[in-house]
Amino acid sequence: MEALVWTGSRLEAVDDLEVRDPLPGEVTVRVDAAGLCHSDLKPVDGDIAQAVPVVLGHEAAGVVVDRGAGVDLPIGQKVVLSVLRNCGHCAACLAGLPTLCRGTTESPPTVFTRYGAPVAQFVRVGAFARHTVVGQQQVVPVPDGIPDTVAALLGCAVVTGFGAVWERARLRAGESALIIGAGGIGLNVVQAAKVAGASRVVVCDTNPRKEAIARRLGATEFLVVGGADDVVATAASVSPEGFDAVLECVGRADLLTAAVGALAWGGRAVMVGLPPADTTVTFGMRQLFQDKALLGCRMGSVDPHRFIPDLARRYLAGEIVIDPLVTTVVPLTEAEDLVARLRSGDLDRGVFDLAGRSPR
Ligand SMILES: [Zn+2]
Ligand SMILES: [Zn+2]
Repeated sequence: MEALVWTGSRLEAVDDLEVRDPLPGEVTVRVDAAGLCHSDLKPVDGDIAQAVPVVLGHEAAGVVVDRGAGVDLPIGQKVVLSVLRNCGHCAACLAGLPTLCRGTTESPPTVFTRYGAPVAQFVRVGAFARHTVVGQQQVVPVPDGIPDTVAALLGCAVVTGFGAVWERARLRAGESALIIGAGGIGLNVVQAAKVAGASRVVVCDTNPRKEAIARRLGATEFLVVGGADDVVATAASVSPEGFDAVLECVGRADLLTAAVGALAWGGRAVMVGLPPADTTVTFGMRQLFQDKALLGCRMGSVDPHRFIPDLARRYLAGEIVIDPLVTTVVPLTEAEDLVARLRSGDLDRGVFDLAGRSPR
């Protein structure tokens, strides 16, 4: 079957990847669309340890086509994939907090092979393949009426952005928000802040081309900054008292330092971007003294089985928009070009079409 394999030195579109049958508690998903997220580039850039060769991809939508024993999801069910392969029976899982389950980091038996040799499955999903096998807790049913490209984004960029604002920062109506970085996740943070009723949704980015889409999704102000050094002073120029929530959506130490520096008294800084593994950050401890908080955030800190269906319902009801985030849809064979465009800041979200429909 078709897949995109990172060999350790290049991205190779192949048509001879094999996928094993589902074990008890697992499902086989035919992937129809998969978004390219910055996190997919972490193994490529050496920012996280990853066995190679590997099938990247973790933000995807598809259809259940096979299931192991003990799975009651129907064949043909449309689903969004999740990286959270939580155990389902620990205290965190029973409390509805799957992002706190220690079991989510365990890998299942080898899913992919090529000529008999194992091919790794990135973050237990490996979505850049026509078929993948995941745990049944990793598939979230969604209505058929949601387009595949939109459904794919629900699995990472949308759930992470909305969760960070609603569940982690717990932004309340009338509060102010500063969003650092208007990429695929940052733009969802913008929309989540708007829907939460924020009084001001201020976005800063180095790329002035992001202003139009940021404003479309709810930004009330857009600040072009030269770099991290600029962020605190520029933010202070529009809000000297600071912001109630500051969301760092890039994953850089200097920007997290800036996020803390831009907080109002009682404000919450949320680390939404995923930094390289060895990153350390420095800030003045006294900066947190006025009841401020610095919060980590894993996949939006939400239960995808509760949160994604709610976002899907809001999308179908017209309460939130997702389509404008999809900049382009391309086949796996155009991966190198799509990665280059992501790095250049040209994409809000680039999506791979695995169903073989014509790209737009
Ligand atoms: Zn992602
Ligand atoms: Zn658990």
